[in-house]
Amino acid sequence: MFKAIRGLFSPDMAIDLGTANTLIFVRNKGIVLNEPSVVAMKVKDNTIMALGAKARTMLGRTPEAINVVRPMKDGQIADFRATTVMLRHFIEKSIGGNFFTRSPRVLICMPCQSTEVEKKAITDTVSGAGAREVFLIEEPLAAAVGADLNIQEPHGTMVVDIGGGTSDIAIMALSGVVVSESVRIGGDELNNSVVQYVRQKEGCVIGETTAEQIKIKIGTAMAVNDVEELTVVGHDLALGVPRTFTLTSDNMVDALSTATAKIIEPVKSALQRCPPELASDIANSGIMLTGGGALLNGLDELMKLETGLPVMVAQDPLGCVVKGCGKILDMDYMEHLLM
Ligand code: ADP
Ligand code: MG
Repeated sequence: MFKAIRGLFSPDMAIDLGTANTLIFVRNKGIVLNEPSVVAMKVKDNTIMALGAKARTMLGRTPEAINVVRPMKDGQIADFRATTVMLRHFIEKSIGGNFFTRSPRVLICMPCQSTEVEKKAITDTVSGAGAREVFLIEEPLAAAVGADLNIQEPHGTMVVDIGGGTSDIAIMALSGVVVSESVRIGGDELNNSVVQYVRQKEGCVIGETTAEQIKIKIGTAMAVNDVEELTVVGHDLALGVPRTFTLTSDNMVDALSTATAKIIEPVKSALQRCPPELASDIANSGIMLTGGGALLNGLDELMKLETGLPVMVAQDPLGCVVKGCGKILDMDYMEHLLM
């Protein structure tokens, strides 16, 4: 009875509002939405033309009259209006026409070290998008729960979440974050590194979407035995025409090494700041990688080499945070986890 009553007042849905992707989990349904965090608007009057996956296909291909924006930056809201419109659409799509859940209670995660102003900005935006009540939770706690780590024990756990705009590192114990670090280097910076590399090596310009495809297909943080090749078309800077060239996975090691080193640096500094008891726990249990960037080939190996610790990639790195939020929705001790 008590549980049933409490259920009435706990969140109906959880949102992972990421720089690259937004995912929504609805109670008793599971993950119902997974869309890129992208909005396409008319420049003239800011009317919305497309959202999510459809808007993403327009990136880098628009005439002057259309503006395609990614309203989240570094895990925080960069464009309030676009974020509100996008979230309202995603929330409505997720709950359908059910009268009882039309104005849902929403659990949403935020980076550690978010300021009060940033927390208020998220709360106001989610309310503006139609939520009746907003609950905040620190993202790495959700990521850890989504990766099936036990965060309630005194035993220390460590998660490195590599998203689009940032990489967030957290060492947790007893349902709280003990040490955290964040760098503004994530998947976008890796894409950017590929763009720069191609410009220098081939004298060709490629767009960010192409760079991302190259990264996903042949990108690697460490040299591989079976070298892969990919044929790419770029815009030759000298000739002014499209030109075809070949890139290999070895090229990718060169292209990505600076950025991957910048992701691993704060992992080391978090370990240095870690209390000794927790450090010895983590030496045994290792580091869990989550977020889409965790899928970069060889990144786990490189981190293992650089830290000397075991490194694992979560089962579904892109879904970890929202899955964790979903589990937290059903947990009896959710109140302890809220910000
Ligand atoms: P966010 O939480 O910031 O929205 P995500 O966790 O959704 O970010 O991860 C998005 C990032 O993951 C993008 O930069 C994307 O390029 C990257 N990514 C997705 N799949 C792969 C892959 N197979 N290899 C490397 N990077 C990937
Ligand atoms: Mg994320």
